[in-house]
Amino acid sequence: MATSWESFLQDEQQLEELARQAVDRALAEGVLLRTSQEPSSSDVVSYAPFTLFPSVVPSALLEQAYAVQMDFNLLVDAVSQNAAFLEQTLSSTIKRDDFTARLFDIHKQVLKEGIAQALRVIPWADGLSLQFSPQTVFLGLNRSDYMFQRSADGSPALKQIEINTISASFGGLASRTPAVHRHVLNVLRKTKEAAKILSNNPSKGLAMGIAKAWELYASANALVLLIAQEKERNIFDQRAIENELLGKNIHVIRRRFEDISEKGSLDQDRRLFVEGQEVAVVYFRDGYMPSQYSLQNWEARLLLERSRAVKCPDIATQLAGTKKVQQELSRVGMLEVLLPGQPEAVARLRATFAGLYSLDMGEEGDQAITEALAAPSQFVLKPQREGGGNNLYGENMVQALEQLKDSEERASYILMEKIEPEPFGNCLLRPGSPARVVQCVSELGIFGVYVRQGKTLVMNKHVGHLLRTKAIEHADGGVAAGVAVLDNPYPV
Ligand code: ADP
Ligand code: MG
Repeated sequence: MATSWESFLQDEQQLEELARQAVDRALAEGVLLRTSQEPSSSDVVSYAPFTLFPSVVPSALLEQAYAVQMDFNLLVDAVSQNAAFLEQTLSSTIKRDDFTARLFDIHKQVLKEGIAQALRVIPWADGLSLQFSPQTVFLGLNRSDYMFQRSADGSPALKQIEINTISASFGGLASRTPAVHRHVLNVLRKTKEAAKILSNNPSKGLAMGIAKAWELYASANALVLLIAQEKERNIFDQRAIENELLGKNIHVIRRRFEDISEKGSLDQDRRLFVEGQEVAVVYFRDGYMPSQYSLQNWEARLLLERSRAVKCPDIATQLAGTKKVQQELSRVGMLEVLLPGQPEAVARLRATFAGLYSLDMGEEGDQAITEALAAPSQFVLKPQREGGGNNLYGENMVQALEQLKDSEERASYILMEKIEPEPFGNCLLRPGSPARVVQCVSELGIFGVYVRQGKTLVMNKHVGHLLRTKAIEHADGGVAAGVAVLDNPYPV
């Protein structure tokens, strides 16, 4: 079995010729990004970076990742509905992390008012919880990411890196890369191998979730509102979802937070209107990083959150995707509380958890810091941030821990076991860089969709995958951060 495609190449020249063919096919298939020079215009575009070859992924791990996705959907949904759990889990973090605190403030405010579609808020013994009207619709579109931990006997194990509950991207472009890799393998006369590249269409599934939520909102003329950034290089990825929706006769408008604060309003039933048009579903492709919020944008987010429209995600679901929540979920007994009576789901979920450690003040946090300082290469320090490039490793982590260890600020971070996959050779193609084989590692993401109406789960699915691959010299960073590139699993 070939794990090293480059061994089929005669020389450097053949590699370069293959890369040129692959790039042209990628452009023809629509594996596109806007350029960093012109991120608001589609006049000049280029290809999204990708690997020349598909990367080997053990079938068993791919199947495991797919099999646990519905469990992760249920877990995210359960956490987002459990105000007491969120409050308890995030209480130390929000004292020190401004961004999480602001999100949490909106969450509290919405809970206090009663979620727009909810009948009323009822207090529970363990804190606040909600009673929803039968019509209340919730939509989750997420992506759970994994790396393949090399274990002592050499066999790889699936370990979750994180779950993305807001703006999980590349479901659109991921449907277009299989044709590129099949092309490359066909050029190499590896037709049997080419046929093994899986077809994949996450954006179709994501659009199905949005369409279901739109349908349950039940207002024929209402729109889907995509909250967009002004500078958006990844527009074609988003358009894939918009195109699917239009195919179902569901119309999408793209607006920025600024547009909402100027032209958005709620009527007396808290129905959301933008420029006079009713909105059924709000889909966020913005609003996951502090730099994306001005005061005006925070106000717009609050307006959207207070509305009756289905939010994807609502603020509780965004909070459910924080690293702090991920760490607390790994505590002994926690999954059993959140998913009662579902021991098989709990076991599947727990099997994917890496070591996660709280840095809250106290003995447990002290112990974690001591261990990380003693073996820095085995840990990652993570703040409550999304979007790549925020985590600290090695010497940087040591410095940060030394500085943080006696301060309450440390509660805004978590520590995680560093996953060490087995590196392999592949060639990362990006505009302006020569094609050459480098040592790489991959990260597998599975897209999940769920829709809940009141207490009834109407949809719970996995809808496709994303493989991203980066050179080993980069500890951190995704495709948007310019580090990882798009790839396809080659199942073995
Ligand atoms: P973000 O929300 O910024 O995407 P992630 O937790 O996904 O944060 O981390 C960003 C990148 O850092 C990941 O894509 C992965 O390459 C690397 N990374 C994160 N956690 C680990 C880990 N525990 N072990 C090894 N690499 C990690
Ligand atoms: Mg990530």
